[in-house]
Amino acid sequence: MNIDPKHHGLSTLCIHAGTHLDQATGGACSPIFTSTAFGFPNPANENIYPRYFNTPNQQVINRKLAALEKGEAAVVFGSGMAAISTLLLAHLKPGDHAIFQNDLYGGTMQLITRELQRLGVEVSWGANVAEFAAALRSETRLILVESPSNPLLHCVDLAAVAELGKRHGVLTIIDNTFATPINQNPIPLGLDVVVHSATKYLNGHSDVNAGVVVASTEIIRRVTASAVNFGGMLDAHACAQLERGLKTLALRVQRHNENADSLARFLASHPAVAQVNYPGLSEHPDHAIAARQMRGFGGMLSFELRDPAQVDRLLSRLRIVMPALSLGGVESLICIPSRTSHRTMTPSERQRAGISDGLVRVSVGIEDADDLIQDFQQALGAESNPLP
Ligand SMILES: *Cc1c(COP(=O)(O)O)cnc(C)c1O
Repeated sequence: MNIDPKHHGLSTLCIHAGTHLDQATGGACSPIFTSTAFGFPNPANENIYPRYFNTPNQQVINRKLAALEKGEAAVVFGSGMAAISTLLLAHLKPGDHAIFQNDLYGGTMQLITRELQRLGVEVSWGANVAEFAAALRSETRLILVESPSNPLLHCVDLAAVAELGKRHGVLTIIDNTFATPINQNPIPLGLDVVVHSATKYLNGHSDVNAGVVVASTEIIRRVTASAVNFGGMLDAHACAQLERGLKTLALRVQRHNENADSLARFLASHPAVAQVNYPGLSEHPDHAIAARQMRGFGGMLSFELRDPAQVDRLLSRLRIVMPALSLGGVESLICIPSRTSHRTMTPSERQRAGISDGLVRVSVGIEDADDLIQDFQQALGAESNPLP
């Protein structure tokens, strides 16, 4: 659909931006184009093929995400890691230097340490803008940050990262998966590239793996040229499912924000909880940064149990909140980073990263907030077995 992103709100863009008009019937939804063989010449005089990232259903997602993230263009991938690996490999060569935030998503960390370094890319790590600036070299090509980060919800000053990149001619990239474009738009703050694991909030129903890169037309052209060679495309049915998920993104994220805020405040007041990490709480160390650059604080939080020995008891007593990996779906999920995402680190590495054995991460879903609070209340409670 031809709707101008500059003149409409995010809820409207979630529903209408990018829709492929159904010229056959006037239907409300984009038709699903299942072909892998497309004719030539065609009206656009362009060769269409799923691995060229240009089929009608892929273009729906590309247009919708570009609109939501206020970028010129976007390209959809078969997973978040396909998006991130293609983006990085499209820009780096042996001898180049890249700067990474030291608490990136575990899969991205592994891509850097097991693949990029093997290919001769020089790597530095930092926690904030001052450390990124100190790591700059003449060979530095890019800086990749994640804000809020996993699982402690650290936030970095995005306008300052963008300014640093512009001053030194370094590409600035953010993984915006936790925030979503509803809560945070890094491109208007000056960042060059936004990546998402669309597996999480963008799809939102824990049933599609996808990823997306949003940037200028020039950067997207370059990333797509590499993507054609790496091949990590998303098929038409998954695109259609992702399109459906995206239509309710703004509504879902609003409820994720509200529920996470309520649960964070409840947990912060609970005697069994030593600390709650949620950027919406004024006591969070990065609250001021988050309040400046986010419209909402998101659905992710973590907290520390006073007694780490109580972790298994908590997991086994929760009735609604499900122990599971992944995040960003409608259902509330809980995981223990020391046993999941940060399992392969040594205990001392974990301690340095602030990941204790009693740290619990919650992806707060869109159930009734009272039910979630009650679930944690009974699971954290003193009684040996509160319900049959
Ligand atoms: C899940 C996730 C990824 C990887 O996405 P996949 O779709 O699993 O490949 C990247 N970054 C963040 C922040 C994530 O949560």
